[in-house]
Amino acid sequence: MKTAILGAGLTGITLARMLNEKGEDITVLEKEKVTGGLCRSKTGEGFTFDIGGSHIIFSRDTEVNDFMCDVLGDNKNKRNRNTKIFFKGAYVKYPFENGLYQLPPEDRFFCINEFVKNLIALEKGELKDPENFKEWIYHTFGKGIAESYMVPYNEKIWNYPTEKMSHHWVDGRIPRPPVEDIIKSAIGIETEGYTHQSVFTYPVTGGIEALVHAIAEPVKDKIRTGFEIKSIKKTQDGFIISNGSEEVACESCISTIPVQALIRCLDDVPDKVKNAVSALKFNSIACVGIGVKGKMNDISWLYIPQKELGRFNRISFPSNYSTEVAPKGCSSVLAEVTFNDGDEVSKMTDGEIAEHCIDGLCQMGIIPSKDMIVYTTVERFEYAYVVYDIDYLKNIKTVTDYFSTSGIDLVGRFSEFEYINMDGCIRHVIDYVKNKYTAE
Ligand SMILES: Cc1cc2nc3c(=O)[nH]c(=O)nc-3n(C[C@H](O)[C@H](O)[C@H](O)COP(=O)(O)OP(=O)(O)OC[C@H]3O[C@@H](n4cnc5c(N)ncnc54)[C@H](O)[C@@H]3O)c2cc1C
Repeated sequence: MKTAILGAGLTGITLARMLNEKGEDITVLEKEKVTGGLCRSKTGEGFTFDIGGSHIIFSRDTEVNDFMCDVLGDNKNKRNRNTKIFFKGAYVKYPFENGLYQLPPEDRFFCINEFVKNLIALEKGELKDPENFKEWIYHTFGKGIAESYMVPYNEKIWNYPTEKMSHHWVDGRIPRPPVEDIIKSAIGIETEGYTHQSVFTYPVTGGIEALVHAIAEPVKDKIRTGFEIKSIKKTQDGFIISNGSEEVACESCISTIPVQALIRCLDDVPDKVKNAVSALKFNSIACVGIGVKGKMNDISWLYIPQKELGRFNRISFPSNYSTEVAPKGCSSVLAEVTFNDGDEVSKMTDGEIAEHCIDGLCQMGIIPSKDMIVYTTVERFEYAYVVYDIDYLKNIKTVTDYFSTSGIDLVGRFSEFEYINMDGCIRHVIDYVKNKYTAE
């Protein structure tokens, strides 16, 4: 075999398809019994949930967006985003800065007054350049929006202090709101933020995993599941990959598994590189899927910045993405809770996490009564989000410098250790394959 692809998440599967199209002899090795990684979905009692958190298909990258939509064939539909932020009991339009008119008057004043004060200070050159993510939030939105929404929400999702996070990644991801939009938003003239996402695509059946299956279709027989890579040895002709009981030989090796898992498989990694890998920050996720009798609302997903309402940072409503993912007369809600090894959530049982989310959703009035619940499921993923801490750029450079001469190529969210979505993963695969074949 020529090329081994480590990991059968979206990146590994897409690599397999695109290298196969080039006529390359490939095998994909995946530790789980099933493919998909974070893009897996689970169906039980008629409810389908994306178990790595709610996934929608969207992208500014039209080539990638077209690829994802085309590969799904007829199994897709488009929906308009109807996303909100739950703020002091009210539903505020998302992004927060586009929904200021829906805030109570005191909060509206706080946000607008501080935005304007901040803007004047910026114009006068009185603001120093931000050095971390928290400073960037204050610098961009002012104290009002920062303290009402941006800081509490971000500290919930990242499970990490924003002053200890780098801000190198925010440009393009969190746009600076135009002043006119803030003024319009304050007086109630409709504006749209994050417009690249205002219409999204989702599979009709099968949840987001349907996308992975559609991409994998031409290479299904080249994927080996239940093969957990435990060691990788370099030989004269390539690599020997082992799961502890069986060896697979290959000429070249592309890893899409988390770099932390990869490093454990290798001998003779310098301490400097091991230390840099162990200093990289990430968080884990628990996803609680709840099936309910009757309809809840018409919201796509909802952000919950307030800690007191529950540990979930976001809830989504899969049955509003596709009517086929819940039985007739039922609807569904998916709560996402991020955590880290050793913290309080990591010590909770699945039952406790589910109960915590259900109590919070009932208290918020999302689920009108516990009697309506007909199905619950909890799934956890160790690697959910890359967290960009202050030392990230230094550590990732040490890691990428080392791998650039190791003969193992890194592609994918936790392999390259970048906060990339599905479109970013597919873009990295397209570019990787293009470079490989122009270089040869
Ligand atoms: C809560 C949440 C919501 C998201 N929502 C969206 C969204 O709406 N839209 C969007 O575009 N993106 C979204 N994403 C991002 C998207 O999930 C990722 O970008 C993408 O799934 C990453 O794919 P990957 O293949 O690089 O990594 P992974 O999915 O992590 O795949 C890695 C694979 O390697 C396997 N593996 C690990 N160790 C080993 C080993 N030792 N041996 C063999 N195999 C191994 C794993 O089992 C896994 O299958 C979301 C992510 C999260 C966490």
